[in-house]
Amino acid sequence: MTINEHALSELRRGCINLTTDKAELLLYSFDATKIKHLPECVCFPESTAEVIEIAKACSKHKIPITPRGAGTGFTGAAVPIQGGVVIAFARMNRILKLDAEAMYVEVEPGIVNFELGKELARHGLFYPPDPASLKSSTIGGNVMTGAGGPGAVKYGVTRDYVMGLTVVLADGSVIETGIKTAKGAVGYDLTSLMVGSEGTLGIVTKIRLKVLPLPPSVVTALAVFDARTAAVDAVTRILRERLLPRTLEYIDRTAIRCVEEYLKIGLPVDAGGMLLIETDGDETPARDEMQKIHGICRELDARGFTIAQNADEAQSFWKIRRSISAAINRISPTKLNEDITVPRTRIAELMDRLDALSQRAGLPIVNFGHAGDGNIHVNVMTDAANAEEYARALKAVEEVFDITLELDGTLSGEHGVGLAKMPYIRKELGEAEVAISKRLKLAFDPDNILNPGKIFP
Ligand SMILES: Cc1cc2nc3c(=O)[nH]c(=O)nc-3n(C[C@H](O)[C@H](O)[C@H](O)COP(=O)(O)OP(=O)(O)OC[C@H]3O[C@@H](n4cnc5c(N)ncnc54)[C@H](O)[C@@H]3O)c2cc1C
Repeated sequence: MTINEHALSELRRGCINLTTDKAELLLYSFDATKIKHLPECVCFPESTAEVIEIAKACSKHKIPITPRGAGTGFTGAAVPIQGGVVIAFARMNRILKLDAEAMYVEVEPGIVNFELGKELARHGLFYPPDPASLKSSTIGGNVMTGAGGPGAVKYGVTRDYVMGLTVVLADGSVIETGIKTAKGAVGYDLTSLMVGSEGTLGIVTKIRLKVLPLPPSVVTALAVFDARTAAVDAVTRILRERLLPRTLEYIDRTAIRCVEEYLKIGLPVDAGGMLLIETDGDETPARDEMQKIHGICRELDARGFTIAQNADEAQSFWKIRRSISAAINRISPTKLNEDITVPRTRIAELMDRLDALSQRAGLPIVNFGHAGDGNIHVNVMTDAANAEEYARALKAVEEVFDITLELDGTLSGEHGVGLAKMPYIRKELGEAEVAISKRLKLAFDPDNILNPGKIFP
């Protein structure tokens, strides 16, 4: 127990809404992994001023703080593994300023990505990063994990849109990072340092995001291939021919079968792979671009290429992609879900090596995801209740990381490190980079109270 009565009364003075009720604490003890740990107190601040008071009390009493958005993370980053205080941002979910001329928006961290998108669309604007969790995950969580999504192939990831942040540091002091201009070159880029730092360097209370004009038209298509190699080749060919679709999502054979069993919509279960493709912009160029993509797929013997005729049909294609996560749970009770990324030119090699690994390990490995930027969700399917099989699965995951690094890839394209990837981080970063990163952490948080036990072993 790190919170005594004295500390608790200071927290109560600083933040009106908090709970220590065990049933409520349970709700803040986990994320989308199965990792769980109870906090001792959850605070629901409504302003930066309240967050400052929480940080001051925690700093004084050396209480761990875990900031939390919606808890949809895939790495355990929002799990309060050392107890202490969770700061939940559900009550800080406002749009503070929308400057349509200067093309930026300022928001509180608890706003849900989709809600921001709806409001921006009313002004003809668009915030591109679109994690598949966009209907529940928060902008604060997206920024602190460096989230990406299907649109990243054309528009980039969260990191590319963060212009500035208000950050409460561990001792309760506040920094305002970044710019309001189109560019800037003063001082260290603390904004970039904060993005993807998973709440280990500071608590974000305001976020300034770049926005773009809403594309007037989106064209959606589904391509079906007999051979997986052709589906993967299509990705490389499309990009090599300087076409820039907004989405290029890959769905492998096992995922197709699982989704068909789950949705029963007549998917081609004997296909080797599918691509979900979107182009956008003015209507004619978007349609022309899709026709060129169709031509490439035809040359690669695509068995089918269907362009959605209306928004409902487009949504039905997206339903296939969005159902994969739930559908593959039917194979085995436990899914070890990694989001490794390789150079786009090496996806085919990656797939071959994952096939071989699956055979060697005697475990199904399901692959799908953002092929357009080389970010493949590799799912090693197992049963955590079966100790021998689970050990084999963990070893397979380590091999997935080794293969990824051998192909010049990275262990995470968008989910981050949290607890799940922490044991492997040295493989990618090496000792010297881990050591300097730990010194940076100490400069921001000398008592190690901000989301302790995450990212670095
Ligand atoms: C079905 C499903 C699909 C998904 N698809 C994608 C996808 O396509 N792309 C993708 O990138 N991710 C995806 N994810 C993972 C997850 O949604 C993202 O990582 C998301 O960015 C997490 O947001 P959150 O609000 O849930 O944050 P949380 O999980 O609550 O927190 C994530 C991290 O951010 C920190 N944090 C949160 N708010 C703050 C703050 N204000 N200040 C400081 N630190 C803070 C937390 O401490 C934690 O370290 C998916 C998850 C699910 C369940």
